[in-house]
Amino acid sequence: MAQHPLLSPAICTLTMREVYRMTEDEAYERFKAIKWPDGVPTCPDCGCKSSWTLKGGRRWKCQGVITDAGTGLQRKCYLQYTVTSRTPLHSRKRSFCDILVAIAEFVNGVLGTAALRLRRRENNSYKTPFVFQHKIREALKVDYDQKLGGVVEVDGLFVGSKKVKPPFPITNEAELEKFYEVYRKKQTSLVVVRERPSDDGKKPGRLRVVHRESEAAAVAFVKSVLTPGTIVHVDYGSQWMRLNMHFELKRVNHSVSYSQDGACTNWAESFFSRVRAAERGVYRYWWPRYAEQYGVELAWKEENRLVDNGSQVDMIISCLMRAGRSTWTGYWQRYKNRIPF
Ligand SMILES: [Zn+2]
Repeated sequence: MAQHPLLSPAICTLTMREVYRMTEDEAYERFKAIKWPDGVPTCPDCGCKSSWTLKGGRRWKCQGVITDAGTGLQRKCYLQYTVTSRTPLHSRKRSFCDILVAIAEFVNGVLGTAALRLRRRENNSYKTPFVFQHKIREALKVDYDQKLGGVVEVDGLFVGSKKVKPPFPITNEAELEKFYEVYRKKQTSLVVVRERPSDDGKKPGRLRVVHRESEAAAVAFVKSVLTPGTIVHVDYGSQWMRLNMHFELKRVNHSVSYSQDGACTNWAESFFSRVRAAERGVYRYWWPRYAEQYGVELAWKEENRLVDNGSQVDMIISCLMRAGRSTWTGYWQRYKNRIPF
């Protein structure tokens, strides 16, 4: 039997001991090298590479010129910026070392890391790891504009409501149906679009996740992330018939078998087993409002499960450096941008 990938020595290239021993300068240089690979500070507003270095050496003032699109008038940019300006780490209070530790913890938890666990380890506020982890989850969507192609599988999973038994013995069939009707209204769907990996195993296949009130409401998203000519494997849910006009559909009847004439959604189901394990073992309960963010995190971990943890840390830093300012900045529980359900 093949060795489990997480048991391989090659999967661990960054230990927590190494992270803790890093100086603040070393941690800062790691962020800076990923933000600007050519080593030249670049203005986040106008993209100009010429700047004055201000006192301390970690802040720059832009020398670029901005042309107003409407009037054609020109003005000097003069923006003062740092490595983290216009990123989710804008206005950060924590040191780069602390941020690197938090990212390493995020990466090492393959089913996610509970914010309460991090709160006890660092002895800080619960809000600090909660909000920071959500900033990372939000930044992971920075590559979602890249479309999927080839052979993909699409399926949905009910989240946000636990399967419950009626609180009192119901003998009447109509009453039981009424009870479950209320229960079903609380259920929402986490829909995944997953590329099949290549036969040689070099391309692991990318994933896209969306959370909607039903699978039917996610059809528009599925269409938007696929390139024309994609072959789509789905189950017998009637909502997926709407994809038939745009893509070649392969359908499998799950009440008969898991694979039918080469059609199956087992790769999508495999992702859902990770989701269920995380829901049961780490996060315990997902607020429907945050279900998509947790799904995005787990999809990213599924996609990069064979990548060593040092590279995963760098990938997260890269996402953070490319994402714009987070909607979580200055908000607790994102009250001002609340998702409707
Ligand atoms: Zn500028």
